[in-house]
Amino acid sequence: MAAKRLPEIAGSASSADIGAQYFTIRNPAFRSFLDQYAGRESYGEWSGIFRFQGADNVWQQLRPAERFVGIPRMTAITRALSTSLEIKAGIRIQSLDQGTGGLWRLTDTDGGVHDGFDAVLLTPPPAQTEELLKASRLDSLANDLNIRISRLQACWTVVVRFPTGTGTDISGYMPNSRLLHWAGNNSSKPGREDEGEWWVLHGDPDWSDANTETDPEEVRRQLLDEFLSISGITAEPSETLLHRWLYARPRARTGPGHLWFDDHRIGIMGDWLEGGRVEGAFNSADGLVRRLESLGLVPAPQPDAEVQS
Ligand SMILES: Cc1cc2nc3c(=O)[nH]c(=O)nc-3n(C[C@H](O)[C@H](O)[C@H](O)COP(=O)(O)OP(=O)(O)OC[C@H]3O[C@@H](n4cnc5c(N)ncnc54)[C@H](O)[C@@H]3O)c2cc1C
Repeated sequence: MAAKRLPEIAGSASSADIGAQYFTIRNPAFRSFLDQYAGRESYGEWSGIFRFQGADNVWQQLRPAERFVGIPRMTAITRALSTSLEIKAGIRIQSLDQGTGGLWRLTDTDGGVHDGFDAVLLTPPPAQTEELLKASRLDSLANDLNIRISRLQACWTVVVRFPTGTGTDISGYMPNSRLLHWAGNNSSKPGREDEGEWWVLHGDPDWSDANTETDPEEVRRQLLDEFLSISGITAEPSETLLHRWLYARPRARTGPGHLWFDDHRIGIMGDWLEGGRVEGAFNSADGLVRRLESLGLVPAPQPDAEVQS
């Protein structure tokens, strides 16, 4: 749910969502969670025209759904969710070990030690989770992970500005293309106040995988050309930004939800264990928390409990 700061235009700078473009809410518990902990003002519906191109190359309406985004950027949601929590950002945990009394101790890459935890819940993508477990001499957990996880695919991302607009009223395209998976008008999302239009282009997962080491200039040119060609947009683009996601989308659409290793008191969660997507990340975490509640490791919520702040 990342946003990238855009170059300053006419004295003001905004940002574009370079990862998740929008999310859907199918699980009512997800909506209640967002409303209660992030607040209704941190997200809203992105209503617009979304087109999908079938294998026969015919453009159709993308299936109807409520599509939600953070306001004024995707990160508004995670920012709002973090306000009542103690979070240490910018720290990379390198290894875990059990200190006095069997409590977990975490060591970061700068040698900092974070001590005294009953349990550890890991949320990084699978490759980093596996690396962390191996560095912690938890090979049996890492090996167990290895057979369960799906590989994540890369995603090249181009953000491009059209200073005088594109002239299209379509907010998102999903073309039948070998190169391009998605193109969305970021400026058409609620709460964005951009000069001109900023579009976000996502490369096809297989194409991105095959081109992770391709010259970024070449990637930019190919994705932009493909977008202009499939959309028929003739407006002149100006600024562009590029981002390479190495771990973007899981191949598998289903998964075990979460993992819990009772002997070690280590839990693993993340969207990649629940078919990808923002709601998958929530469902994965929700499943693990329910399990911890049933084990008495975290208190079950009281029906009338007030939100702690
Ligand atoms: C290009 C792209 C497009 C997407 N489009 C959509 C979409 O349209 N709709 C949708 O629903 N979903 C989409 N997704 C998926 C969505 O973004 C994810 O499902 C969601 O962000 C996953 O959340 P998460 O918390 O499981 O993992 P992440 O968001 O990956 O969070 C993992 C965190 O762990 C941290 N970390 C890693 N290693 C360590 C370590 N050793 N120590 C400490 N911290 C560590 C990372 O820095 C990161 O902050 C997209 C993703 C990408 C990349």
